[in-house]
Amino acid sequence: MCGLCCNGSLFKTAKLYDTDNTDLIEVTDDKNGEARFRLPCKNFSTKCEIYDKERPRTCVQFKCKTLIRFENGKISHKRALEIISQMQVLVRKVLETIPNGDNAAIVSVSNFVKDHKMDMLDLSFRRQNGQKILLVHKYRKMVKKHFIVGTKARNGILSRVLKNRDQSL
Ligand code: SF4
Repeated sequence: MCGLCCNGSLFKTAKLYDTDNTDLIEVTDDKNGEARFRLPCKNFSTKCEIYDKERPRTCVQFKCKTLIRFENGKISHKRALEIISQMQVLVRKVLETIPNGDNAAIVSVSNFVKDHKMDMLDLSFRRQNGQKILLVHKYRKMVKKHFIVGTKARNGILSRVLKNRDQSL
């Protein structure tokens, strides 16, 4: 178990069902008022500590793209582990760009480009933040390609910038 879906690297919150035991999780809600539980999950250390107990329904049902591909025989066990290990290295590198950051900050970091949409048009901003921009781009590509089913590409401005990165970063 890699824990990327539990430790905040991929999601900030997860869907909560009426049948879930709320004593075991940290309940919150999203901007539409829908009940969710907070990630990183308090039951995760190096693995899920309640795996054989009353895990929330979302946890029981969720499968990332890599797991689905492995179960369908599309990729080998070795390849699945390589992808996970690449993502863990990438997450560590992204975390190094956040002072005192933990995995909970990763999803926010991935919004870095969106939050600085107008700044991205400025060459000096791009030069100053080149390392971070490249890492965010890699992270989002990995998430889309290997982890979250149905993830849409939202790297419009980032892709345009990176197309000419030799001149712009
Ligand atoms: S309950 Fe277990 S599987 Fe579900 S998010 Fe928490 S640590 Fe992960």
